[in-house]
Formats: sequence, structure tokens, C-alpha cells
Amino acid sequence: MAVSHLQCKECKAEYPLEALYVCDQCFGPLEVVYDHDRSTLDVGELRRRIQGGPQNIWRYADFLPLAGGPPGPSGRLASRVGLPAGCTPLIRADRLAERLGLREVWVKNDAANPTHSFKDRVVSVAVTRARELGFETIACASTGNLANSVAAHGAALGMDSYVFIPADLEEQKILATGIYGTTLVGVEGSYDDVNRLCTELCAERDWAFVNINLRPYYAEGSKTLAFEIAEQLGWEIPDRCVVPVASGSLFTKIAKGFEEWIELGLLDGGGPSSIGSSAPRLPRMNGAQAEGCSPVASAFAAGNEVCRPVKPSTIAKSLAIGNPADGPYALDLARRTGGSVDAVTDEEIRAGIKLLAETTGVFTETAGGVTTAVLSKLAARGDIDPDERVVLVITGEGLKTLDAVRGAFETHTIAPTIEAFEAGVPEGTAV
Ligand SMILES: *Cc1c(COP(=O)(O)O)cnc(C)c1O
Ligand SMILES: [Zn+2]
Repeated sequence: MAVSHLQCKECKAEYPLEALYVCDQCFGPLEVVYDHDRSTLDVGELRRRIQGGPQNIWRYADFLPLAGGPPGPSGRLASRVGLPAGCTPLIRADRLAERLGLREVWVKNDAANPTHSFKDRVVSVAVTRARELGFETIACASTGNLANSVAAHGAALGMDSYVFIPADLEEQKILATGIYGTTLVGVEGSYDDVNRLCTELCAERDWAFVNINLRPYYAEGSKTLAFEIAEQLGWEIPDRCVVPVASGSLFTKIAKGFEEWIELGLLDGGGPSSIGSSAPRLPRMNGAQAEGCSPVASAFAAGNEVCRPVKPSTIAKSLAIGNPADGPYALDLARRTGGSVDAVTDEEIRAGIKLLAETTGVFTETAGGVTTAVLSKLAARGDIDPDERVVLVITGEGLKTLDAVRGAFETHTIAPTIEAFEAGVPEGTAV
């Protein structure tokens, strides 16, 4: 087992692998540290073992913080969790690339997870660890997708679950959570109010809050997105990743995933723009936020190292975290990889959803509209070398945020006759 201990990201104090998340010396966040034995590592063998693993995130169990060890080809851990996540499509998006004047764009479609967002990755890992630690009840503070995933995992495993959401969440996300038989609590307030309440409850109850006391394990689940992208690109690293930022966990952990595999020698140098360069290095990391909740993008633009909390107001509710826990680390990552953190308006988000749908056949929720709109912005600004291999990370499903696309197109309503059709329906044009 390579997982070693928890460590404070600030003062490096070490902690055991328990349900701990904050350093009691300096209040810094805790992170999982591994101890891979590189002396005996055979890269070819390891790649083959991964490829022979189950078709879900447990193929990467060697790099996840679980005591159970790696599963066999039958996916022992997968069956333990019940709702296997991951192995989502990486789609080459030539028509989108062409529209943006780029050469190579890939869409990582994480809407193709059991509850239709990337959150199934983090919840699967957190809940598996919670069970190892003996918890019987799971819980979360959610902006929407986490609620869906925690409720579904509770149902799949027969565990009690408590899900806390802002009361004004999209109806689709509320319905797609309550149906699993969870205890659903709508809190009158913003996500940051929900999170504060849950942090207090966490001290009172013996529950596994997946994104509070289990947060170090939860966060590790996001690395599997990086592992998959690299594996799907033939063990190569892309030149650039565009990723949505809420708390900043996904954004920073995708980089941690690439970093761990680079260190182990598992990856080859990057895409077309790095041909000839020797060692693989991290992709440029571009964070994407909505202007109505852009504490990280604002701090990036201002050259600040920390974020000033904001009160969110945006259609991208799944990204509406006004006080992002991983904000400083997201800023540092964007800067040290030559990336950025940008923000787009609600109108640009709607246009982003439409652009992605029309050019790739992928219908994303508002968060994916944010990511697509930021990619358009970077391309228009000339930030992207045309030869770069770019991965656009799409984290959620369009059917969950239908309000955002109302009025985006017209239905031609006609009487059931040829004459009405010929009079009322224009010639189609592929866009
Ligand atoms: C939760 C979420 C994110 C990112 O969340 P982080 O807190 O930054 O890890 C991105 N997209 C969607 C759709 C989400 O639900
Ligand atoms: Zn510390």
C-alpha cells in the first residue's frame, strides 16, 4: 500500500490517515501523501496493470488513499462501492477547434458518470474511505451535483445520508437528489452559509461529511480525471487543460494527478507543441469561473495571492462558492504553469453551452458553459498556440440546468401537412 499519511499543506505537520482535514498547529488544509517505491517500479508493468484493471476509477487504486489495496481485474473495490465512476469519453473535437482557430481540442465528458457529473469520482473515494473508517452515515454541503452523488451513493450502499443544499437550487438538481431517499435539507442562504452550518454539525455528529472531515480523501478522487486523460492520450500529457473552479479542489488535484505520474515516470512528453522537448511537464492550467462568482479570477487579475470572499450571483450555481478553500493553491498553480484564471458573464456561459452542443454533440450544464466560454476567450485573446493539444474538462450534464438554455433556439410548429412544412420550415444549415 503506497498511501502513507496526511500532511498539512502549509507547515508539513504529519497526521494519521483518519477523518481529519485541518492542521491543529496552523489551521492549514491536510492532504494525502504517498510513498511509492520507485526503486522496484517497472513502468511497462504498471501501465499494463492499469490497462487490465476495471473500467472505472478503481483501475487507479494504486494512487488512491484506500487501505483495501488495488482491486483485481474483477474490480473488487468497484463492487464494494456500487456506483462505479470514471472511464468517461475523451472526444476529439475538431469542429469546435476549427470554430476557435485551434488545431487540437479534446473534450473530457464527465457528464457521463453515474449521476452525471465528475462528483461521482470524489464521492466514490470519500465514501469508500468513510466505510473503511467505520462511518455509517454520509453527508455533504453541496452546490448541487455533490448532493446528487452523495444521495445516490447512500442508496447504492444502503447507508444513511444527509444532504445540505442552498434552498434556491435548480429544481432538476433537487429532484435528482431527493428521489434517492436521502434526508434533503434546503438551507436558506448561500453555499457558504450551508458549508458553515455543516462544519459546525461535523463537530457534533459522527458523520462522514465527504467534503469536510473526509475532504483529503474526497479531493484525491479528482486525480483520476488526470490519470484518465493521460491514459486516453496514450500516456501523454496535454499542453493545456481548461477546468472549472468552485472551491479549487478539482483544478488543483488534476495537476496533482499529472504530477504524481510524471514523478513516477509513467508519462511521456506532451503533445505537438512539445515535440522534441524531453521531460514531460505539467500542462498550462487555465481555471474557469463565472463573473457572478469569481473570487479566484479576480485575485489572479489583481496579482493577489489570496482570494477575497464574494457573495455569488450567477447561473453557474454548481460553481457558486464565494469563499474557495483551495483558492490560494489554484492561484499558485495557474501562475507556475503559465496558465490563468478567467471569468465569463452569464451571457457568455449560455453561448458556451450552445457552442459546445452545436459543435460536439455534448450538452453540458452551466459549469461546462463556463469552461467552454473561457476556452473561447483564451483563443480569441491569442493565449493559445495553434499547435497546442488542449483538453476542455466538461464536468456536468445539460439536463440539470435547463433554465439556462430556454429561448436558445426556435421550434417550428406546423400543421401535419406537406404544405405547412414547406411554408413553415427553413432549409437546415449545419453550424
Ligand atoms: C463541484 C463542481 C466543480 C468544481 O468544484 P471544485 O470545488 O472546484 O472542486 C466543477 N463543475 C461542476 C459541475 C461541479 O459540480
Ligand atoms: Zn499546519
